Amino acid sequence: MYQIVFGAAVVHPAGGRLSGERKDTMPDTDKEEPGNAMPIIACVTVGVFQENCYLYACPQTHHAVIIDPGDEAERILQRIQELELIPQYIINTHGHIDHIGAIDAVSAVYPVPLAIHPDDAIMYTDEQVAKLYGRSSPLVQRKPDILLKEGDRLAFGTLTLEVVHTPGHTPGGVCLVSRPYCVFSGDTLFHRSIGRTDLPGGDFEQIVTSIRDKLYTLEDDLVVFPGHGTPTTIIEEKYENPFVTVEE
Ligand SMILES: [Zn+2]
Ligand SMILES: [Zn+2]
Repeated sequence: MYQIVFGAAVVHPAGGRLSGERKDTMPDTDKEEPGNAMPIIACVTVGVFQENCYLYACPQTHHAVIIDPGDEAERILQRIQELELIPQYIINTHGHIDHIGAIDAVSAVYPVPLAIHPDDAIMYTDEQVAKLYGRSSPLVQRKPDILLKEGDRLAFGTLTLEVVHTPGHTPGGVCLVSRPYCVFSGDTLFHRSIGRTDLPGGDFEQIVTSIRDKLYTLEDDLVVFPGHGTPTTIIEEKYENPFVTVEE
């Protein structure tokens, strides 16, 4: 079963919530082969926007990706060290300030390749957004090393993340699929909700198409880890999401 560290609780992908603030291995009900351990997933919810930064790692090598380090770099770094992870990439699901704000501070300790879709890379240097939030510009000093596109695969340890381009919340929004386990959905798909489309570059028709054609066509049992709020699954959202259902 899953090995998940989610804030103060250990969350079972099927929805059960176990208490205890510790890294834990889920009860083994499936008689899995030894050495066939499930990925390590840790969520650090950061900043005033309560953004979910995810650490996703291979259980054998501890090679990890840091997804959306948005704020509170110290807490993210502390969790990486607690779990003894070895970061390989920093990946952005999109370029909004709440998902990128800790990139430079995390990169100072782990100067690993930085990846984002080219259509959102411009947000690293958006002076207006920086000014709006009283931050100095650019919001991210370093340049992206990898410009993500549909179908790209990033490998680390025994795991891979496949890039699915899901515009609508932002033009360069992506979801990251790790079969057969989970999908990191950024601000495209949430538990019973979808990303807002009223910000610059947002497009309602586009986000509906992205979700229906690219996310709801993924395997039903993939766990969805969103950029805000609690995890869900593809099948739950297909039938329970009030904004985008399977059929029109
Ligand atoms: Zn966003
Ligand atoms: Zn966000």
